[in-house]
Amino acid sequence: MPLRGIRWDGGLSKEQCRNSIHWSRFRWSTAYMKKDIPEGGIIGQILEGYEAYLEPGLSHRRISHKTVCQKIRALENEPHVKVRLAGQSLEKKPVYQLTLGSGPVQVLMWSQMHGNEPTATMALFDLLKFLMVSDNFQPVRSAILERLTLHLVPVLNPDGAERFQRWNAAGIDLNRDAQMLESPESRILKHLTDEIQPQYAFNLHDQSTRYSVGNTRKHTMIAFLAPPADEARSISQGREKSMKLIAHLYSCLAEIIPGHVAAYSDEFEPRAFGDNIQKWGHSTVLIESGGEKNDREKQGLRRLNMAMYAEALYSIARGMFLDRSLDTYHSIPPNTSHIFDIVLRNVRVQIAGEEVRMDVGINREEMPDPHSEGFLTKGILAESGDLSLFFGYEELDAGGALMTPGKVAPGMRSAKSPSFVRETEYLLRQGYTAVQIMEEKVPYEIRVQVPLRILTSGETCTYGLMPGTEADVLVWKSSELFCAVIKGELIRFGYDTTE
Ligand SMILES: [Zn+2]
Repeated sequence: MPLRGIRWDGGLSKEQCRNSIHWSRFRWSTAYMKKDIPEGGIIGQILEGYEAYLEPGLSHRRISHKTVCQKIRALENEPHVKVRLAGQSLEKKPVYQLTLGSGPVQVLMWSQMHGNEPTATMALFDLLKFLMVSDNFQPVRSAILERLTLHLVPVLNPDGAERFQRWNAAGIDLNRDAQMLESPESRILKHLTDEIQPQYAFNLHDQSTRYSVGNTRKHTMIAFLAPPADEARSISQGREKSMKLIAHLYSCLAEIIPGHVAAYSDEFEPRAFGDNIQKWGHSTVLIESGGEKNDREKQGLRRLNMAMYAEALYSIARGMFLDRSLDTYHSIPPNTSHIFDIVLRNVRVQIAGEEVRMDVGINREEMPDPHSEGFLTKGILAESGDLSLFFGYEELDAGGALMTPGKVAPGMRSAKSPSFVRETEYLLRQGYTAVQIMEEKVPYEIRVQVPLRILTSGETCTYGLMPGTEADVLVWKSSELFCAVIKGELIRFGYDTTE
């Protein structure tokens, strides 16, 4: 139910997610068919016709193991894809290896070694679809499948993925287990690397959405790294190839998402897989998917990933990237972190009878709903004071308006009441940010539908304005509500519903 007269930037529709990245800058060209490749490669063209490659049922980041298994079982009937059980996770969930192509160049790509980093998993399923359909990209497809043999491992850490957590079921970060190989999932990756001896390895991750690019005010959408194989960060022949391939992709992306690509920290991590696989002699490319405004489910970055994989594989098949300069690789600006989810500028706070002006940076955190499969959000007040060096995915200048901490509405209500949702909207307008209910449980749909935080029977909350506390806040202009942040969502008041 939309809030009348209130603009709520959270809870975007699928359509909005889909359209969240504006691909306006790429140039349509059919030059990819010819020898001279356009600067943007084939990425722009693939994005243009992407709907044909979109694997259905993967529009949310929390992808169940059941869904992944269903998708893989469906591939067993595909004559061009070989499905093989690569091993089992600690909790005995299958990890699959999908092989296609018949070329001499072996390429290994794995996703979701960190369970809560699913963008590449969605993109790998789209890549499979891209490689199996028949359309104008046939020359690209043929080059890839005749020259390369692709080994894809979607979801290396299924136990972590099911919990939507970084670690495996034992709490081990697989990307710090490349030496000890204590986890079965790590052993699967090591075994595949030894067995396949890939010339190219793609280590696919998601990074924090709150990284920015160098000193700019642009958020990082993609970060790259040719992982170092030693402390000195030497450039071996294998690493040089990784660097050139990244330089090529970076040049292509400059046409598509200018200014939104960064370099991931190249500090040597002796326990990480990327660094070790590079050391074992396989050219390794780390791709981290970052963030995009209004794309919480990362559907835009998923598309960008797949198109980029296709470009990378095609350029490996054709050797197109080998003349790229290492200077291009070294020119990629570093990941920096200057972003909050929400920045409220220029608010006034009353403390001990005094007034203080400040900016406030608020971050949204996700946590599982204890009573359902869904997840809930909360806002954390990350930093207060002069935030002129920082920026937010959403920003609002309060023009000196008064910020007060959240407030629980008096009395108790029943979430079962047919008027409950409407009543919470009324309470919000009265300046309340939380409501106490009689029940011990509340249906997930109600919880996400109402603009207030719901406190079930026996639950309490305290509100403050200190960094580190839960940031449900209200901002007042005179006695009128100007905006609020509740559950990590920015709510603006006084907007016309027809806007
Ligand atoms: Zn990761």
